[in-house]
Amino acid sequence: MENSQGFVQHITAKSENYSQWYIDVILRAELADYSPVRGCMVIRPYGFGIWENIKELLDRRFKATGHKNAYFPLFIPESFLAKEAEHVEGFAPEVAWVTRAGNEELAEPLVVRPTSETIIGHMYSKWISSWRDLPVLINQWANVVRWEKTTRLFLRTSEFLWQEGHTCHRTQEEAEEETLKMLDVYRSFLTEDLAIPVLAGKKTEREKFAGAITTYCVEALMTDGRALQAGTSHNLGQNFAKVFDISFLDKDNQLKYVWQTSWGVSTRLIGGIIMVHGDERGLALPPRIAPIQVIVVPIMPPSSEETVLNVARDVVERLEKICRVELDSRDEYSPGWKFNEWELKGVPIRLEIGPRDIKAGKVVLVRRDTGEKTDVPMENLEDAVIDMLNSVQEGLYARAKRFMDENTHVTNDYGKFKAIIEEERGLIFAPWCGSQECEVSVKAETGATIRCIPMNACSKPGKCIHCGDDSTDWVYFAKAY
Ligand SMILES: [Zn+2]
Repeated sequence: MENSQGFVQHITAKSENYSQWYIDVILRAELADYSPVRGCMVIRPYGFGIWENIKELLDRRFKATGHKNAYFPLFIPESFLAKEAEHVEGFAPEVAWVTRAGNEELAEPLVVRPTSETIIGHMYSKWISSWRDLPVLINQWANVVRWEKTTRLFLRTSEFLWQEGHTCHRTQEEAEEETLKMLDVYRSFLTEDLAIPVLAGKKTEREKFAGAITTYCVEALMTDGRALQAGTSHNLGQNFAKVFDISFLDKDNQLKYVWQTSWGVSTRLIGGIIMVHGDERGLALPPRIAPIQVIVVPIMPPSSEETVLNVARDVVERLEKICRVELDSRDEYSPGWKFNEWELKGVPIRLEIGPRDIKAGKVVLVRRDTGEKTDVPMENLEDAVIDMLNSVQEGLYARAKRFMDENTHVTNDYGKFKAIIEEERGLIFAPWCGSQECEVSVKAETGATIRCIPMNACSKPGKCIHCGDDSTDWVYFAKAY
């Protein structure tokens, strides 16, 4: 390695201390920083650039499936949260309150939204009266607050950014169809745009959203062998409709409650991107969401500085038309130092250009994922960059998929199960009898939870991994974030 100048800034070896590596990558790549308020995080411009790209790509998918954006208030009356029993029980321990404004105690304390089902339900009851008002397909991009006891940048913070979709439907079937449709939007967004392979499935009763009838999820596998819940889609049935009285006059002139769904992903996805694609050199970003897709690094001996810079600027001007590109013309750093820094920041392609390249009418492209260098004639620049961006996107997905496949185990032997969780982690596909008792015991004894009951449920008969009774389903277990 041509690393005579040392790394830009040291990051802990991923193989030695995974969680410190994770934090180092975030801080040194300037994605986020710790806030003076414990458990909150400051998202820096480079990290926010990733979020903006996530938002844009997801928003396009939401709109293509008929949804519109709206905005609801940050504060929710205490009485709203209390209306749905399971919901309040699920969220009460981590709710932040506003009890005073200026010098006055509020007549009714306000909840800082941990999620918005209640206040949106209240509004929907005002807006919906006929079957003609349905379906209602609304999404909001917002922040929410959950006062977490242990926090970790991007993965679990007291305040985070997310989107929450909230829909109302005439029939139960339509609501179920919507829940699954949005699950599939998440699945395709993660695989196509984030290059993250996922399992799609259903949560167990114990792991479902507080107030939902069914929760579906997409789960990803991080490179330390832990799973990450990356997105959820809930079929809320009529639970909220009944307590908030969201009813409508149906075609048959009967007054009926609507059927609802809600679904969301958050800034936690950025944690997933870091842990799925990052390596010993730092971050590796999928081109589709990289704030900078190509970084141009001119190699400028003092004699030809002017010439090289001019050509580099031309190159940037050409590439700006087809991708997100920046020029690193800082003269206080050597090219080697810059190479390391942009690798740490995960920029998919580095473009090098020096006097010798100019003479030969070419540039050098270097891929972040494999380190492979390619000479590209100036006249083929645009095509070569587009091809390479696609190829990096596919390469990252293929690598992540291979890792997931290699770290998915199948067993119905509890001894082996425990050994796998202890020694190598990863996903374990195992039979389960369907009882909460076994689910809880496995968690207590191994730390692994049921991540999901896969969509195409395996009907192969089996014996529960824990109690040995006949299984109802084959499910995925893992230790999770
Ligand atoms: Zn069992």
